Amino acid sequence: MADIDNRGIEAFREEVRDFFATALTDELRAARRYMTSVYCDYDAGMAWQRILLDRGWLVPSWPKAYGGTGWSLTERYVFACESAKAGPPPVSPMGIGMLGPALLGHGTDAQKDYYLPRMLRGDDFWCQGYSEPQAGSDLAALDCRAVRDGDDYVVNGTKIWTTHAHYANRMFCLVRTGRFDRPQQGVTFLLIDLDTPGVSRHPIRFFSGDTEQCQVVFDNVRVPQENVVGREHEGWTVTKYLLEFERGGGASAPGLLESIGDLKRFAAEAGADDLMPRVLALETRVLALEAIELRCLAEAERTGSPGPSASMLKVQSTELSQTLSGLALEACGWYGLPWQPEVVDARGAAEPVGPAAAVTRATFYFNNRAASIYGGSNEIQRNIMSRHVLGL
Ligand SMILES: Cc1cc2nc3c(=O)[nH]c(=O)nc-3n(C[C@H](O)[C@H](O)[C@H](O)COP(=O)(O)OP(=O)(O)OC[C@H]3O[C@@H](n4cnc5c(N)ncnc54)[C@H](O)[C@@H]3O)c2cc1C
Repeated sequence: MADIDNRGIEAFREEVRDFFATALTDELRAARRYMTSVYCDYDAGMAWQRILLDRGWLVPSWPKAYGGTGWSLTERYVFACESAKAGPPPVSPMGIGMLGPALLGHGTDAQKDYYLPRMLRGDDFWCQGYSEPQAGSDLAALDCRAVRDGDDYVVNGTKIWTTHAHYANRMFCLVRTGRFDRPQQGVTFLLIDLDTPGVSRHPIRFFSGDTEQCQVVFDNVRVPQENVVGREHEGWTVTKYLLEFERGGGASAPGLLESIGDLKRFAAEAGADDLMPRVLALETRVLALEAIELRCLAEAERTGSPGPSASMLKVQSTELSQTLSGLALEACGWYGLPWQPEVVDARGAAEPVGPAAAVTRATFYFNNRAASIYGGSNEIQRNIMSRHVLGL
């Protein structure tokens, strides 16, 4: 508490609010408002990333030597809350939210010094190559092979559901370098330059209308051995560490509470009073999530990583978010139905059918069904919790 009092947390909150008020342009706010999934478009995300970088606030939790702010846990949470209120376009999580912590935990100094500044500046845009057509929940069944040849590996195989591979110039990838008794052994964590000859990307269109994922095929792709993170055959350790950050490295309750506030206002204006009991019940559950998130953040601060409780946060936050997107769609009534990509693309400059807030609701609802699948399905998270948290 002394630390909080000394730093003057309310003064800090004001500083953060001022920053958002001046740094967020109308275009960036509109990019956020018209998002149809958890991602915004590439240009808006990168523009906001550069603004945060210039302010020195892009990676609060990282060590100061690599761009961290040195903020206390409370300051980081205040920043997350104010960010949720201000509504900037989100920064793509694959580099900064996932690979960054993994390199900080398991990379060599040379890898950290080379890749982290490039990641922050946006010179590199990363995607995550874990899943394969025959290896999703059972990730250890992965079969994309990397065979040593001189100073390189030669990679052959297929990755699928790779978010933003069509924008990315690099992929952190799991490859099979050997077969041992346990399938987790013989998996290697490899950094791949996607501009290398032999890489092809095939975008996948979802029924929500969005194209955010790709299938990526490797045909005799040469990758230098120095691009291994951790040790050969022992990439599973890096993988598990990274997944904890993917599943529970952030704070989702502040954003959910903001969206619930928006929904209450919308439902009141639309006269959808019958929805209110369910909205309030949801709000109570999100407040409970907030308490758990704060506890897990404190734990992460103490131990350096979110740990298996990340699975609990992933299940809770995605299920609450899905309930919320269902209620938000219901509140729109018929106006949720028209598919209006031209209004989404024009970010409000074109006249919508019905209220502007209804334009993205159906697309977001459908896209959000994937939240309980990506990052490891919620059934798998429950298995992890039963083993590693409950000890069953
Ligand atoms: C929108 C989206 C974005 C994604 N982005 C990426 C990405 O960037 N990079 C990447 O590598 N992957 C990505 N994925 C892939 C994602 O990680 C996988 O879809 C997920 O791990 C599930 O694997 P699967 O699709 O092969 O389903 P399966 O593994 O075939 O599972 C099918 C069903 O069976 C259930 N099931 C399977 N095994 C068990 C079990 N042991 N116990 C209980 N239930 C079980 C699952 O919960 C699921 O409901 C993305 C997926 C989506 C939908």
